[in-house]
Amino acid sequence: MTPKEIIDKLLNNEMRLYEIEKYVSAKEATDIRRAFIEEYNDVKLDNVGNYSLDMEKASKRNIENPIGVLQLPMGVAGPLKINGQYCNREVFVPLATSEGALVASINRGASTITHSGGANVRVISDVMTRAPAIKTENAIDAFKIKQWFEDNFDKLKEIAESTTSHGKLIKIDPIIVVGNYVYPRFVYSTGDSMGMNMVTIATEKILEAMTNETSAVHLALSGNLCVDKKPAAINMIEGRGKSVVADILIPEEIVNKKLKTTAGGIVEVNTVKNLIGSAAAGSMAFNAHYANMVAAIFLATGQDAAHVVEGSLGITTAENRDGDLYFSVNLPDLPIATVGGGTSLETANEGLNILGVAGSNKVLELAEIVASTVLAGELSLLAALSAGHLARAHKELGRG
Ligand code: NAP
Repeated sequence: MTPKEIIDKLLNNEMRLYEIEKYVSAKEATDIRRAFIEEYNDVKLDNVGNYSLDMEKASKRNIENPIGVLQLPMGVAGPLKINGQYCNREVFVPLATSEGALVASINRGASTITHSGGANVRVISDVMTRAPAIKTENAIDAFKIKQWFEDNFDKLKEIAESTTSHGKLIKIDPIIVVGNYVYPRFVYSTGDSMGMNMVTIATEKILEAMTNETSAVHLALSGNLCVDKKPAAINMIEGRGKSVVADILIPEEIVNKKLKTTAGGIVEVNTVKNLIGSAAAGSMAFNAHYANMVAAIFLATGQDAAHVVEGSLGITTAENRDGDLYFSVNLPDLPIATVGGGTSLETANEGLNILGVAGSNKVLELAEIVASTVLAGELSLLAALSAGHLARAHKELGRG
Protein backbone atom coordinates (compact mmCIF):
# COMPACT_ATOMS: atom_id res chain seq x y z
CA MET A 1 0.00 0.00 0.00
CA THR A 2 1.30 3.49 -0.80
CA PRO A 3 1.38 6.25 1.85
CA LYS A 4 -1.41 8.03 -0.04
CA GLU A 5 -3.60 4.91 0.05
CA ILE A 6 -2.97 4.48 3.80
CA ILE A 7 -3.83 8.11 4.50
CA ASP A 8 -7.02 7.80 2.46
CA LYS A 9 -8.02 4.70 4.41
CA LEU A 10 -7.34 6.54 7.70
CA LEU A 11 -9.38 9.53 6.54
CA ASN A 12 -12.23 7.23 5.48
CA ASN A 13 -12.14 5.37 8.81
CA GLU A 14 -11.17 2.14 7.06
CA MET A 15 -7.95 1.70 9.00
CA ARG A 16 -6.94 2.32 12.61
CA LEU A 17 -3.95 4.47 13.52
CA TYR A 18 -2.11 1.52 15.08
CA GLU A 19 -2.49 -0.70 12.00
CA ILE A 20 -0.11 1.26 9.75
CA GLU A 21 2.94 -0.71 10.94
CA LYS A 22 1.43 -3.86 9.41
CA TYR A 23 2.25 -2.45 5.97
CA VAL A 24 5.38 -0.29 6.41
CA SER A 25 8.32 0.18 8.82
CA ALA A 26 7.85 2.07 12.11
CA LYS A 27 9.76 5.06 10.70
CA GLU A 28 7.55 5.23 7.59
CA ALA A 29 4.43 4.65 9.70
CA THR A 30 5.45 7.64 11.84
CA ASP A 31 5.68 9.86 8.75
CA ILE A 32 2.38 8.62 7.36
CA ARG A 33 0.57 9.05 10.67
CA ARG A 34 1.94 12.58 10.96
CA ALA A 35 0.87 13.38 7.39
CA PHE A 36 -2.61 12.07 8.25
CA ILE A 37 -2.82 14.29 11.34
CA GLU A 38 -1.59 17.26 9.28
CA GLU A 39 -4.34 16.68 6.76
CA TYR A 40 -7.04 15.83 9.27
CA ASN A 41 -6.33 18.86 11.47
CA ASP A 42 -5.10 21.18 8.71
CA VAL A 43 -1.85 21.86 10.60
CA LYS A 44 1.85 21.76 9.71
CA LEU A 45 4.05 19.53 11.92
CA ASP A 46 7.47 20.27 10.40
CA ASN A 47 9.22 20.52 13.76
CA VAL A 48 7.58 17.47 15.32
CA GLY A 49 8.73 15.59 12.23
CA ASN A 50 12.31 16.83 12.30
CA TYR A 51 14.18 14.47 14.63
CA SER A 52 17.11 12.11 15.04
CA LEU A 53 15.72 9.48 17.44
CA ASP A 54 15.62 5.90 16.19
CA MET A 55 11.86 5.50 15.81
CA GLU A 56 12.16 1.81 14.93
CA LYS A 57 13.66 1.22 18.38
CA ALA A 58 11.45 3.70 20.27
CA SER A 59 8.25 2.27 18.81
CA LYS A 60 9.12 -1.17 20.18
CA ARG A 61 9.17 -0.06 23.84
CA ASN A 62 8.59 3.65 24.39
CA ILE A 63 5.67 4.90 22.29
CA GLU A 64 2.59 3.82 20.38
CA ASN A 65 1.08 5.66 17.40
CA PRO A 66 4.20 7.86 17.04
CA ILE A 67 4.01 10.98 14.88
CA GLY A 68 7.44 12.43 15.69
CA VAL A 69 9.37 13.89 18.58
CA LEU A 70 8.86 16.67 21.11
CA GLN A 71 11.83 19.01 21.45
CA LEU A 72 12.64 21.09 24.51
CA PRO A 73 15.61 23.39 25.06
CA MET A 74 18.33 21.78 27.19
CA GLY A 75 20.87 23.75 29.20
CA VAL A 76 23.53 22.90 31.75
CA ALA A 77 24.22 24.17 35.26
CA GLY A 78 27.58 23.76 36.92
CA PRO A 79 30.17 22.91 37.81
CA LEU A 80 28.42 21.46 40.84
CA LYS A 81 30.73 19.83 43.37
CA ILE A 82 29.28 16.73 45.00
CA ASN A 83 30.62 14.90 48.03
CA GLY A 84 28.59 11.73 47.83
CA GLN A 85 29.11 8.10 48.62
CA TYR A 86 28.84 7.28 44.91
CA CYS A 87 29.49 10.62 43.20
CA ASN A 88 32.61 12.43 44.31
CA ARG A 89 33.38 15.01 41.68
CA GLU A 90 32.20 18.13 39.90
CA VAL A 91 29.42 17.75 37.34
CA PHE A 92 27.62 19.83 34.74
CA VAL A 93 23.93 19.00 35.08
CA PRO A 94 21.78 18.78 31.92
CA LEU A 95 18.39 20.46 32.41
CA ALA A 96 15.51 20.45 29.92
CA THR A 97 12.96 23.18 30.49
CA SER A 98 11.02 25.99 28.86
CA GLU A 99 11.04 28.08 32.05
CA GLY A 100 13.42 30.95 31.50
CA ALA A 101 15.65 31.81 34.51
CA LEU A 102 15.47 28.29 35.96
CA VAL A 103 18.87 27.13 34.70
CA ALA A 104 20.45 30.46 35.65
CA SER A 105 19.06 30.16 39.16
CA ILE A 106 20.28 26.57 39.59
CA ASN A 107 23.64 27.66 38.22
CA ARG A 108 23.93 30.32 40.91
CA GLY A 109 23.08 27.74 43.59
CA ALA A 110 25.64 25.34 42.10
CA SER A 111 28.33 28.00 42.16
CA THR A 112 27.53 28.82 45.80
CA ILE A 113 27.67 25.15 46.77
CA THR A 114 30.90 24.48 44.87
CA HIS A 115 32.59 27.52 46.46
CA SER A 116 31.44 26.29 49.87
CA GLY A 117 33.12 22.88 49.47
CA GLY A 118 30.39 20.88 47.74
CA ALA A 119 27.06 19.26 48.52
CA ASN A 120 27.17 16.47 51.07
CA VAL A 121 24.75 13.81 49.97
CA ARG A 122 23.65 10.30 50.95
CA VAL A 123 21.10 7.82 49.61
CA ILE A 124 19.10 6.73 52.67
CA SER A 125 17.03 3.98 51.04
CA ASP A 126 16.42 2.43 47.64
CA VAL A 127 13.13 0.56 47.04
CA MET A 128 10.33 0.23 44.52
CA THR A 129 6.84 -0.84 45.52
CA ARG A 130 3.71 -2.43 44.12
CA ALA A 131 0.57 -2.92 46.23
CA PRO A 132 -2.40 -4.78 44.69
CA ALA A 133 -5.99 -4.66 45.93
CA ILE A 134 -7.21 -8.09 47.08
CA LYS A 135 -10.76 -9.12 47.89
CA THR A 136 -11.82 -11.73 50.45
CA GLU A 137 -15.19 -12.71 51.91
CA ASN A 138 -15.01 -10.79 55.17
CA ALA A 139 -12.65 -9.20 57.71
CA ILE A 140 -11.67 -12.56 59.26
CA ASP A 141 -10.69 -13.94 55.85
CA ALA A 142 -8.83 -10.71 55.09
CA PHE A 143 -6.86 -11.16 58.29
CA LYS A 144 -6.07 -14.77 57.25
CA ILE A 145 -4.74 -13.59 53.87
CA LYS A 146 -2.54 -11.05 55.64
CA GLN A 147 -1.15 -13.95 57.71
CA TRP A 148 -0.75 -16.07 54.57
CA PHE A 149 1.52 -13.39 53.05
CA GLU A 150 3.53 -13.19 56.28
CA ASP A 151 3.85 -16.96 56.72
CA ASN A 152 4.83 -17.58 53.08
CA PHE A 153 7.31 -14.74 52.60
CA ASP A 154 10.30 -16.95 51.68
CA LYS A 155 8.32 -18.88 49.07
CA LEU A 156 6.80 -15.70 47.62
CA LYS A 157 10.24 -14.11 47.44
CA GLU A 158 11.46 -17.06 45.38
CA ILE A 159 8.44 -16.81 43.06
CA ALA A 160 8.90 -13.05 42.55
CA GLU A 161 12.62 -13.34 41.91
CA SER A 162 12.10 -16.09 39.32
CA THR A 163 10.82 -13.36 36.97
CA THR A 164 13.89 -11.09 37.07
CA SER A 165 17.64 -11.29 37.44
CA HIS A 166 17.97 -7.84 39.07
CA GLY A 167 14.82 -7.49 41.19
CA LYS A 168 14.74 -8.67 44.84
CA LEU A 169 11.69 -8.82 47.11
CA ILE A 170 12.81 -7.23 50.38
CA LYS A 171 9.62 -7.27 52.45
CA ILE A 172 5.83 -7.01 52.33
CA ASP A 173 5.15 -3.97 54.46
CA PRO A 174 2.65 -2.71 55.41
CA ILE A 175 -0.20 -5.14 54.78
CA ILE A 176 -3.30 -3.02 55.27
CA VAL A 177 -6.73 -4.59 55.90
CA VAL A 178 -9.86 -2.54 55.23
CA GLY A 179 -12.99 -4.61 55.87
CA ASN A 180 -12.77 -7.54 53.45
CA TYR A 181 -10.03 -5.92 51.32
CA VAL A 182 -6.27 -6.47 51.71
CA TYR A 183 -3.47 -4.22 50.40
CA PRO A 184 0.00 -5.80 50.71
CA ARG A 185 2.75 -3.34 49.78
CA PHE A 186 5.48 -5.42 48.07
CA VAL A 187 8.83 -3.71 48.53
CA TYR A 188 11.62 -4.55 46.05
CA SER A 189 15.10 -3.45 45.13
CA THR A 190 15.38 -3.08 41.35
CA GLY A 191 19.05 -2.47 40.56
CA ASP A 192 19.64 0.40 38.14
CA SER A 193 16.14 0.34 36.66
CA MET A 194 13.29 2.45 38.02
CA GLY A 195 11.59 -0.91 38.30
CA MET A 196 7.85 -0.38 37.82
CA ASN A 197 7.54 -2.92 35.00
CA MET A 198 9.86 -5.28 36.85
CA VAL A 199 7.92 -5.23 40.14
CA THR A 200 4.58 -5.38 38.35
CA ILE A 201 5.60 -8.60 36.58
CA ALA A 202 7.03 -10.07 39.80
CA THR A 203 3.93 -9.16 41.84
CA GLU A 204 1.64 -10.63 39.20
CA LYS A 205 3.42 -13.96 39.67
CA ILE A 206 2.91 -13.78 43.45
CA LEU A 207 -0.79 -13.12 42.92
CA GLU A 208 -1.00 -16.20 40.69
CA ALA A 209 0.27 -18.28 43.62
CA MET A 210 -2.20 -16.57 45.97
CA THR A 211 -5.10 -17.35 43.63
CA ASN A 212 -4.00 -20.99 43.35
CA GLU A 213 -3.60 -21.52 47.09
CA THR A 214 -6.33 -19.38 48.66
CA SER A 215 -9.87 -18.21 47.94
CA ALA A 216 -8.81 -14.56 47.74
CA VAL A 217 -9.04 -12.75 44.39
CA HIS A 218 -7.03 -9.77 43.27
CA LEU A 219 -9.13 -6.94 41.91
CA ALA A 220 -6.35 -4.64 40.71
CA LEU A 221 -2.62 -5.17 40.32
CA SER A 222 -2.20 -1.71 41.77
CA GLY A 223 -4.48 -0.85 44.66
CA ASN A 224 -3.02 2.67 45.05
CA LEU A 225 -1.10 1.86 48.23
CA CYS A 226 2.09 1.65 46.10
CA VAL A 227 1.76 4.79 45.65
CA ASP A 228 2.70 5.28 42.00
CA LYS A 229 2.55 8.75 40.41
CA LYS A 230 0.46 10.35 43.15
CA PRO A 231 1.60 12.38 46.17
CA ALA A 232 1.20 10.26 49.32
CA ALA A 233 2.24 10.36 52.95
CA ILE A 234 3.18 6.66 52.91
CA ASN A 235 5.86 7.40 50.29
CA MET A 236 7.17 10.26 52.40
CA ILE A 237 7.37 8.09 55.51
CA GLU A 238 8.43 4.72 54.06
CA GLY A 239 10.33 6.08 51.05
CA ARG A 240 9.86 5.08 47.40
CA GLY A 241 12.46 5.04 44.64
CA LYS A 242 15.56 6.64 46.07
CA SER A 243 15.29 8.51 49.39
CA VAL A 244 18.08 11.06 49.43
CA VAL A 245 19.36 13.77 51.77
CA ALA A 246 21.75 16.57 50.74
CA ASP A 247 23.14 19.42 52.81
CA ILE A 248 25.70 22.22 52.86
CA LEU A 249 27.23 24.64 55.34
CA ILE A 250 27.74 27.97 53.55
CA PRO A 251 30.15 30.47 55.13
CA GLU A 252 28.61 33.85 55.98
CA GLU A 253 30.82 35.66 53.49
CA ILE A 254 29.57 33.50 50.60
CA VAL A 255 25.93 33.86 51.70
CA ASN A 256 26.40 37.64 51.61
CA LYS A 257 28.44 37.82 48.42
CA LYS A 258 26.91 35.17 46.18
CA LEU A 259 23.36 34.96 47.49
CA LYS A 260 23.10 38.67 48.41
CA THR A 261 21.33 37.89 51.67
CA THR A 262 21.92 36.55 55.18
CA ALA A 263 21.55 33.16 56.86
CA GLY A 264 18.86 34.66 59.11
CA GLY A 265 16.97 35.95 56.07
CA ILE A 266 16.94 32.53 54.40
CA VAL A 267 15.94 30.77 57.64
CA GLU A 268 13.00 33.15 58.04
CA VAL A 269 11.77 32.63 54.47
CA ASN A 270 12.16 28.86 54.85
CA THR A 271 10.15 28.87 58.08
CA VAL A 272 7.37 31.15 56.93
CA LYS A 273 7.05 29.68 53.42
CA ASN A 274 8.22 26.07 53.31
CA LEU A 275 7.20 25.08 56.82
CA ILE A 276 4.31 27.27 58.04
CA GLY A 277 2.84 28.12 54.63
CA SER A 278 2.96 24.48 53.52
CA ALA A 279 1.41 23.35 56.82
CA ALA A 280 -1.36 25.94 56.47
CA ALA A 281 -2.06 24.64 52.96
CA GLY A 282 -2.03 20.99 54.04
CA SER A 283 0.75 20.46 51.50
CA MET A 284 2.98 17.38 51.54
CA ALA A 285 5.81 19.26 49.89
CA PHE A 286 7.53 21.37 52.53
CA ASN A 287 9.76 22.97 49.95
CA ALA A 288 9.83 25.84 47.48
CA HIS A 289 10.21 24.09 44.11
CA TYR A 290 11.87 20.66 44.09
CA ALA A 291 9.62 19.83 41.13
CA ASN A 292 11.42 22.38 38.95
CA MET A 293 14.82 20.72 39.29
CA VAL A 294 13.43 17.19 39.31
CA ALA A 295 11.38 17.81 36.14
CA ALA A 296 14.28 19.41 34.26
CA ILE A 297 16.69 16.54 35.06
CA PHE A 298 14.02 13.89 34.49
CA LEU A 299 13.31 15.27 31.00
CA ALA A 300 17.01 15.59 30.17
CA THR A 301 17.82 12.01 31.23
CA GLY A 302 14.77 10.02 30.09
CA GLN A 303 13.07 9.42 33.44
CA ASP A 304 9.32 8.80 33.62
CA ALA A 305 8.01 12.38 33.68
CA ALA A 306 4.89 11.44 35.66
CA HIS A 307 7.16 10.64 38.62
CA VAL A 308 7.90 14.34 39.05
CA VAL A 309 4.81 14.38 41.25
CA GLU A 310 6.63 12.01 43.64
CA GLY A 311 9.95 13.81 43.33
CA SER A 312 8.23 17.04 44.34
CA LEU A 313 7.77 15.74 47.91
CA GLY A 314 10.20 16.59 50.68
CA ILE A 315 11.29 18.95 53.41
CA THR A 316 13.81 21.80 53.27
CA THR A 317 15.58 22.85 56.46
CA ALA A 318 17.71 25.91 57.18
CA GLU A 319 19.68 27.03 60.24
CA ASN A 320 21.55 30.18 61.07
CA ARG A 321 24.85 29.01 62.60
CA ASP A 322 26.48 32.20 63.81
CA GLY A 323 25.98 33.84 60.42
CA ASP A 324 26.85 30.75 58.39
CA LEU A 325 23.95 29.01 56.68
CA TYR A 326 23.23 25.31 57.20
CA PHE A 327 20.81 24.22 54.46
CA SER A 328 19.37 20.79 53.56
CA VAL A 329 16.94 19.15 51.16
CA ASN A 330 15.28 15.79 51.80
CA LEU A 331 13.78 13.81 48.95
CA PRO A 332 12.03 10.65 50.19
CA ASP A 333 10.45 9.65 46.88
CA LEU A 334 12.65 9.78 43.80
CA PRO A 335 11.94 7.02 41.25
CA ILE A 336 14.86 7.10 38.79
CA ALA A 337 16.85 4.85 36.46
CA THR A 338 20.03 4.64 34.44
CA VAL A 339 18.81 1.48 32.67
CA GLY A 340 15.43 0.68 31.04
CA GLY A 341 12.37 2.84 30.40
CA GLY A 342 13.17 6.04 28.52
CA THR A 343 16.87 6.09 29.43
CA SER A 344 17.93 4.42 26.19
CA LEU A 345 16.36 7.09 23.95
CA GLU A 346 19.27 8.79 22.18
CA THR A 347 18.90 12.27 23.70
CA ALA A 348 18.26 10.84 27.19
CA ASN A 349 21.35 8.69 26.86
CA GLU A 350 23.37 11.78 25.94
CA GLY A 351 22.00 13.55 29.01
CA LEU A 352 23.08 10.61 31.19
CA ASN A 353 26.46 10.61 29.45
CA ILE A 354 27.03 14.29 30.33
CA LEU A 355 26.72 13.15 33.95
CA GLY A 356 28.74 9.98 33.35
CA VAL A 357 25.93 7.80 34.68
CA ALA A 358 24.54 5.83 31.72
CA GLY A 359 24.08 2.09 32.25
CA SER A 360 24.56 -0.38 35.09
CA ASN A 361 25.88 0.42 38.59
CA LYS A 362 25.18 4.13 38.19
CA VAL A 363 21.71 4.82 39.55
CA LEU A 364 22.78 5.73 43.09
CA GLU A 365 25.26 8.19 41.61
CA LEU A 366 22.41 9.74 39.62
CA ALA A 367 20.31 9.92 42.81
CA GLU A 368 23.07 11.91 44.51
CA ILE A 369 23.35 14.24 41.51
CA VAL A 370 19.59 14.89 41.42
CA ALA A 371 19.48 15.68 45.14
CA SER A 372 22.51 17.98 44.88
CA THR A 373 20.89 19.82 41.97
CA VAL A 374 17.69 20.18 43.98
CA LEU A 375 19.81 21.60 46.81
CA ALA A 376 21.28 24.16 44.38
CA GLY A 377 17.92 25.26 42.96
CA GLU A 378 16.15 25.35 46.30
CA LEU A 379 18.94 27.39 47.86
CA SER A 380 18.96 29.87 45.01
CA LEU A 381 15.21 30.50 45.07
CA LEU A 382 15.03 30.93 48.84
CA ALA A 383 17.99 33.29 48.62
CA ALA A 384 16.25 35.30 45.89
CA LEU A 385 13.06 35.56 47.94
CA SER A 386 15.06 36.54 51.00
CA ALA A 387 17.21 39.06 49.09
CA GLY A 388 14.06 40.60 47.60
CA HIS A 389 12.66 40.98 51.06
CA LEU A 390 15.92 42.53 52.26
CA ALA A 391 15.99 44.87 49.27
CA ARG A 392 12.43 45.99 49.97
CA ALA A 393 13.24 46.45 53.67
CA HIS A 394 16.28 48.55 52.78
CA LYS A 395 14.23 50.65 50.39
CA GLU A 396 11.56 51.26 53.00
CA LEU A 397 14.16 52.00 55.68
CA GLY A 398 15.96 54.33 53.28
CA ARG A 399 12.72 56.17 52.59
CA GLY A 400 11.94 56.39 56.30
P1 NAP B 1 12.14 -1.98 31.99
O1 NAP B 1 12.87 -1.32 30.91
O2 NAP B 1 10.86 -2.62 31.69
O3 NAP B 1 12.98 -3.10 32.74
C1 NAP B 1 14.30 -2.95 33.10
C2 NAP B 1 15.04 -4.11 32.43
O4 NAP B 1 16.41 -3.89 32.49
C3 NAP B 1 14.75 -5.44 33.09
O5 NAP B 1 14.32 -6.32 32.11
C4 NAP B 1 16.10 -5.87 33.65
O6 NAP B 1 16.29 -7.25 33.50
C5 NAP B 1 17.06 -5.12 32.77
N1 NAP B 1 18.34 -4.73 33.37
C6 NAP B 1 19.55 -4.81 32.76
N2 NAP B 1 20.52 -4.34 33.53
C7 NAP B 1 19.94 -3.94 34.69
C8 NAP B 1 20.42 -3.34 35.88
N3 NAP B 1 21.72 -3.06 36.05
N4 NAP B 1 19.54 -3.05 36.85
C9 NAP B 1 18.25 -3.32 36.70
N5 NAP B 1 17.70 -3.89 35.61
C10 NAP B 1 18.55 -4.20 34.59
O7 NAP B 1 12.03 -0.90 33.09
P2 NAP B 1 11.44 -0.86 34.57
O8 NAP B 1 12.46 -0.06 35.27
O9 NAP B 1 11.04 -2.16 35.15
O10 NAP B 1 10.14 -0.02 34.36
C11 NAP B 1 10.26 1.29 33.86
C12 NAP B 1 9.21 1.50 32.83
O11 NAP B 1 7.96 1.23 33.43
C13 NAP B 1 9.16 2.92 32.35
O12 NAP B 1 9.05 2.94 30.95
C14 NAP B 1 7.88 3.45 32.98
O13 NAP B 1 7.32 4.47 32.25
C15 NAP B 1 7.05 2.22 33.05
N6 NAP B 1 6.00 2.19 34.07
C16 NAP B 1 5.32 1.01 34.20
C17 NAP B 1 4.34 0.90 35.15
C18 NAP B 1 3.63 -0.39 35.33
O14 NAP B 1 2.73 -0.46 36.16
N7 NAP B 1 3.98 -1.43 34.59
C19 NAP B 1 4.05 1.98 36.00
C20 NAP B 1 4.78 3.15 35.87
C21 NAP B 1 5.74 3.23 34.89
P3 NAP B 1 15.79 -8.31 34.60
O15 NAP B 1 14.40 -7.98 35.03
O16 NAP B 1 15.87 -9.61 33.89
O17 NAP B 1 16.72 -8.25 35.74
